[in-house]
Amino acid sequence: DEQIERHEYDVVVIGAGGAGLRAAIEARLQGKRTAIISKSLFGKAHTVMAEGGCAASMGNANPNDNWSVHFRDTMRGGKFLNNWRMAELHATEAPDRVWELETYGALFDRTEDGKISQRNFGGHTYPRLAHVGDRTGLELIRTLQQKVVSLQQEDFAETGDYESRIRVFHECTITELFTTSPGPGVPDGRPAIAGCFGYFRNDGRFVRFDAPAIVLATGGVGKSYSVTSNSWEYTGDGHALALRAGATLINMEFLQFHPTGMVWPPSVRGLLVTESVRGDGGVLRNTDGKRFMFEYVPDVFKEQYATSEEEGDRWYTDPDNNRRPPELLPRDEVARAINSEVKAGRGTEHGGVFLDVSTRLKPEEILKRLPSMHHQFKELADVDITSEPMEVGPTCHYVMGGVEVEPDTAMSKVPGLFAAGEVAGGMHGSNRLGGNSLSDLLVFGRRAGLHAAQHADAGRPAVAEADVAAALERAMLPFSSAAEGGENPFVVQQELQKTMHELVGIIRKGEEMELALKKLEDIATRTRTVSVEGHRRFNPGWHLALDLRNMLLVALCTGKAALERQESRGGHTRDDFPVMDSDWRHLLLVCSALGEDGIELTRQEQIPMRPDLFDLFELDELKKYYTGDELGGHRAGAG
Ligand code: FAD
Repeated sequence: DEQIERHEYDVVVIGAGGAGLRAAIEARLQGKRTAIISKSLFGKAHTVMAEGGCAASMGNANPNDNWSVHFRDTMRGGKFLNNWRMAELHATEAPDRVWELETYGALFDRTEDGKISQRNFGGHTYPRLAHVGDRTGLELIRTLQQKVVSLQQEDFAETGDYESRIRVFHECTITELFTTSPGPGVPDGRPAIAGCFGYFRNDGRFVRFDAPAIVLATGGVGKSYSVTSNSWEYTGDGHALALRAGATLINMEFLQFHPTGMVWPPSVRGLLVTESVRGDGGVLRNTDGKRFMFEYVPDVFKEQYATSEEEGDRWYTDPDNNRRPPELLPRDEVARAINSEVKAGRGTEHGGVFLDVSTRLKPEEILKRLPSMHHQFKELADVDITSEPMEVGPTCHYVMGGVEVEPDTAMSKVPGLFAAGEVAGGMHGSNRLGGNSLSDLLVFGRRAGLHAAQHADAGRPAVAEADVAAALERAMLPFSSAAEGGENPFVVQQELQKTMHELVGIIRKGEEMELALKKLEDIATRTRTVSVEGHRRFNPGWHLALDLRNMLLVALCTGKAALERQESRGGHTRDDFPVMDSDWRHLLLVCSALGEDGIELTRQEQIPMRPDLFDLFELDELKKYYTGDELGGHRAGAG
């Protein structure tokens, strides 16, 4: 009989990035016994890699900024498909969350007069990103970890045990969520969260956590693609866990391909080149030396962007009297433009274009503002960005889609199951603005932790022992005789990545996606029987075999939703439906689990925007996104 380590908590947070840590801190501040679980080493989450900064309309660099400008920018960036209530909460609460980080000990870069400095970023009207050089995520994680430690010290003073109320379990992967039949506090009969199951990566030991409230903060899905800025653990675990537990996912067709990933050498293909390079003055050129972005400004953005290089250049020093350069369009626009240039034969031999910051900034400025980028290119590509251009191309970066949650509480369809950060859907609509993720993590991490703590008061549903046995059996499947003769999980993973990259990538076509879905069926069969050798100690093949099941489910959601949405919007571009269609704006594509490893897709109407928020936009702008019928309620009296 297998020994299973067992723990009981009030709130279990799965994921130790910014969203998870902020959620855990809040749950502990509410007095709850809280566990933080992370698949990788503590401190090594995506959040730590965030370079550019955290968007919050503090108005330090330009006093014209405020929450409503941020709200509007976010909605525009997401092409008005965003959950407007989340966008509102995000814009109004982000400044408080940044200031609060300072009270936890964060040290942001400063303006001359000592305020938190803010930098420009694509799609943001004013300089808005609080930052620490190009290592903002590192400071964010460092600060949140420090806060966890300080809370543990308080607990020690009170109870003699550092871990009495907040404990970190790292290198621990959760593979299953447990739900149960209606229990106390769950009146409407929906199965509620009761706990979760996983294993420790180092020795393969199994573990279960019994808890009435779980916060998913597992980040993204990038590892389903061959070229990605994401690291190994981003296999969509939280997305898949939520689906299997009975929650729904929305917006899964929308993936952000960051315009600038490294393209050379092959070993680092996909690695991110921060948008700050463009925010601080970097320009994009094709192999003819042309600054091509001026050709790619879409109609909806024409009025906000410079029409000549001279005007764009002036904007850096005089933003009030000039329009910004088109290199700072939202990411989806820039990624598509680079893709088109390379396809048209004006790309480099490695399939990228040039990004040059050396022509505008002095070497010492570059070293000060972009130290990590300088280091990255020098070490990995032997390129000195103070004097040479970088070679860049699009890379799969961020998933806008995720768990459908109640905006105010971050709770999913499953009572007791919360989601925050990249794993949650809705906030960013069809495209996320740079810098809006770090702020999202803080705002909704806190909300998820708070409401999870409140939910935990409602009672403690029991985990069914049969569910634990089933979870264990499933985790052991790749070693079992049922999997004998099955394939190596690495081979199947590569096939999945290639399928998604080539057939459901940055530019999509109906027949290619149909082909992708066929291939995914085949990959599903092969995934069910992947087999691994050896035992559970330090066995990456086994870990991947379990991750693969999640990657596949998430890929299915993306493939099906992308095929269904017959328009182009944000992070979803269809060659066969190249324009944005107002009749699609108000429709969400919702995925729910069907059987063991299938998914069902349904259409759902968006809730119309609250009138006072709707009135923040000019009618002429809304006409570009909304149908005539929907405009009736606007203050300008359209109809
Ligand atoms: P993450 O920070 O991704 O953390 C996820 C956590 O979940 C990890 O601890 C992981 O180990 C854990 N986990 C996953 N699966 C499991 C499982 N099954 N069991 C247990 N634990 C699990 N955004 C910005 O706003 N500004 C930027 O400048 C910026 N730069 C970026 C640069 C790079 C290179 C990348 C990759 C992203 C960047 N982003 C940026 C995006 C942003 O960093 C991420 O979207 C964000 O950090 C996600 O945070 P999170 O808390 O949701 O999850």
